[in-house]
Amino acid sequence: MRIVLLGPPGAGKGTQAARLAVSLKVQHVSTGDMLRAEVAGETALGKLAKGFMDRGELVPDDVIIGMISSRLKSGAGMVLDGFPRTVAQAEALDRAFVQAGLKLDRVVYFAVGQEELVIRLSGRATCKGCQRPYNLNTSPPKKTGNCDHCGGELMQRNDDKPEAVRNRLKVYEKQTAPVLDYYRRAAAVKEIDAVGTVEEVYARLTAAVR
Ligand code: AMP
Repeated sequence: MRIVLLGPPGAGKGTQAARLAVSLKVQHVSTGDMLRAEVAGETALGKLAKGFMDRGELVPDDVIIGMISSRLKSGAGMVLDGFPRTVAQAEALDRAFVQAGLKLDRVVYFAVGQEELVIRLSGRATCKGCQRPYNLNTSPPKKTGNCDHCGGELMQRNDDKPEAVRNRLKVYEKQTAPVLDYYRRAAAVKEIDAVGTVEEVYARLTAAVR
């Protein structure tokens, strides 16, 4: 099965994609995670991407498409999270699947209002040790600044700081929202309400991909 999860930053796609991929026994392909690994590894690609990411801008299409195209053609089942983010990327995805004789089975759109997104993104923090995600606004750790699980220090992604958050939402409206129209024209998009507990949203997601 090949599934695209679409939606604004902070909609919860990453959390849900990881879970869905385990349950369907397919790969979780997150371009954001791939880029963060490149940044952490200080590779040429990571050095190029870092500035765009820290400012909350999109990394250029040719870089992203070059990074992901072999995975798209691999034939493996996958949940795509954070890709495609522009119409050019959606077209590249179509081309890659056509070339490899594959098809996209589902597109699910996570609907969340702007105000909710700002609260979610600006509160997001991750443990430096075990990478466990927290939300300082909605699900804070028991001890301020430290992970409940391993005691590690919590850190905020550079692109979750207020200025970058505002920019990411603007970039989403301008460059990524048109991807939704692209798929609405070509394929059936299932829209789910992404406001609720992780469990509630997951139940809606599994119903939408069934
Ligand atoms: P994410 O973890 O999906 O929110 O991605 C974090 C950041 O990585 C984004 O704000 C972009 O700077 C960059 N990024 C991730 N995926 C893409 C993509 N498909 N196209 C362009 N930039 C991306």
